[in-house]
Amino acid sequence: MKKISLLGATGSIGLQTCDILLNHPEEFRLVAFSAGKNIEKTREIIQALQPELVSVQEEKDAYALKKEFPHINFTYGEQGLIEVATHPDTSILVNAVLGSVGLPSTLAAVRMGKTIAIANKETLVTAGHLVMEEAKMHHAPILPVDSEHSAIFQSLNGENPKQIRRLILTASGGAFRDKTREELKNVTVKEALNHPNWSMGAKITIDSATMMNKGLEVIEAHVLFEMPFDQIDVLLHKESIIHSMVEFQDTSIIAQLGTPDMRVPIQYALSYPDRLPLIGGKPLNLAEIGQLHFQKVDFERFRALKLAYEAGRMGGTILTAMNAANEAAVQLFLQEKIAFLEIEEIIERIMDNHDNISNPDLETILHVDKETRKKVLSMVQ
Ligand code: NDP
Ligand code: MG
Repeated sequence: MKKISLLGATGSIGLQTCDILLNHPEEFRLVAFSAGKNIEKTREIIQALQPELVSVQEEKDAYALKKEFPHINFTYGEQGLIEVATHPDTSILVNAVLGSVGLPSTLAAVRMGKTIAIANKETLVTAGHLVMEEAKMHHAPILPVDSEHSAIFQSLNGENPKQIRRLILTASGGAFRDKTREELKNVTVKEALNHPNWSMGAKITIDSATMMNKGLEVIEAHVLFEMPFDQIDVLLHKESIIHSMVEFQDTSIIAQLGTPDMRVPIQYALSYPDRLPLIGGKPLNLAEIGQLHFQKVDFERFRALKLAYEAGRMGGTILTAMNAANEAAVQLFLQEKIAFLEIEEIIERIMDNHDNISNPDLETILHVDKETRKKVLSMVQ
């Protein structure tokens, strides 16, 4: 029986994780989880999975829930995320919280040698070098949950990493893949939230439309697989059936395919190195699909992807600045305070004016993260 801590249980990845845990009660037990402000869903997860410890974002919610569930321990805030992540009884942390707020708790769990199933890509983008360094030191396995990275991880199984020629990340192109830059000027929040293949949280759906999601994933791949940026390519593939591929020196390509269902990579990270049946999963029917399409990426059309490669190649605090600028700008777009194309304009301005610090420590990263968010707000006001 594997004992699990889950950060971001009330989100898109978090709820799908709960679904897997409910479907495999013999294999997994949820010991601790965190939620943000969705108390309704928090209540449902408590009733379904009976954890020992729950953290919520606000202190008042923790007190109210304690009255309802006196036999469960409650905590709150950023310290609460750390308490859930480092619960002494758990061996696996699923980090499905949104944004760089997940960094300190990931590092705390890594330092205890826990296995980290990581969906929270912002943590790897903003502080990948710290997380991986500490993971090696404390023998904490980092397993990808992001579908592209899970596909690469599965394709690499048993292969010698020195014999890789390149990693090929596939990209659906998001909600606006067929629009020109001119047509992007007036797109609405509602249109941007309408992803053609995947149902996900709001922030990552916008990131898919700007292609910053693919940019973050290129950096995530660099961090997880220690691959130089020149050996990481992006290929447009609108059906999202091939989740990513590895090309070897002998020109062989190994890929992982499946219907677009995040429960597959989530469950694989939990069951690794074994596989379990996917309850309610739909097998891939290639005869029915008939055709798969591929297309080269245009970096002028998808500028956010180009910016991410630039930041990745530089390394240092510009990664934190880029990520924080994106998180802040996406939030402003979702609140309808800025236009869609202003997201990448803001990121570009923040990057242009950034004084880069290489090899930053945690304190520096958290400082740059906070200052960048403030700068973005003052740029807009
Ligand atoms: P959601 O927005 O659906 O969920 C985010 C979760 O984090 C919720 O539980 C939310 O709580 C919680 N949360 C948000 N802010 C805070 C905070 N300040 N303090 C504590 N908890 C907080 O996001 P997704 O599930 O879509 O994405 C989660 C992560 O997984 C992201 O890093 C994303 O990039 C990555 N990912 C997601 C995929 C997907 O299919 N959704 C695919 C691949 C990666 P509440 O709702 O209760 O307020
Ligand atoms: Mg992905």
